[in-house]
Amino acid sequence: MATRRPLLAGNWKMHGTRSETERLLSALTQALGGVNPAQREIVVAPPFSALETAARLLADTPIRLAAQNLHWEPHGAFTGEVSGPMLKEAGCTYVILGHSERRQYFAETDESVARKVRAAQRDGLLPIICVGESLEERESGATLAVIDRQIRGALQDPELDPELDQAPAALTGLVIAYEPIWAIGTGRSATPDQAQEVHAAIRATLGSLTSPATADATRLLYGGSVKPDTVDALMARPDIDGALVGGASLQADSFARIVNFR
Ligand code: PEP
Repeated sequence: MATRRPLLAGNWKMHGTRSETERLLSALTQALGGVNPAQREIVVAPPFSALETAARLLADTPIRLAAQNLHWEPHGAFTGEVSGPMLKEAGCTYVILGHSERRQYFAETDESVARKVRAAQRDGLLPIICVGESLEERESGATLAVIDRQIRGALQDPELDPELDQAPAALTGLVIAYEPIWAIGTGRSATPDQAQEVHAAIRATLGSLTSPATADATRLLYGGSVKPDTVDALMARPDIDGALVGGASLQADSFARIVNFR
């Protein structure tokens, strides 16, 4: 079985002017001083406008930068959009794609997420692909079918990339975040059992789309009201390889405790 280095990522959403970013990152780098980067990977995703500031502050640290979205074209007449090469130049390693807030408020679909995944791979960014069911879908027993559809939709769109089936290597390095919509920002986390069940199903889907080795090596994050007092039990489950953290990543001490899960 592959050893998967735990990945703890903070999604700041639309929080963080440049001065707030400076304050939060200087507190965070202090709080995380003792973390061994070989043992856990730390990622923060500030808004676009704070990426350069964050990149400068994090230059001599092992903390990596993620963007929260990209446009699939490298450049062009797309007012208000930001492309992969721009994010790369700003210092990003990762890009969060298909977050439920983007699906819900900005009409993102499995198809647009698939285009963005291809673009991230083309532009040398590692995608963190978000999937998750609504409360209604969970209560009607549709969770695993919804997640399976979202994973296949994001990774396998023959019209967009007929080669994908023959190129599982292209999927190496991507990260999937399972984020049940009913748990995001609500203070109501999925239980470790609920999260583990979905993560195991995601790994099985990845195995059928790629190869058992790729599925085994792919990191699966849980997201949805992860807090200092819930992270340890979640991280104890075999298929939970990290966390995507919203609210609790905006305070240095709570994010540091999450990174230092036991
Ligand atoms: C998120 O938005 O990715 C998230 C998980 O938010 P929160 O931790 O606040 O639920």
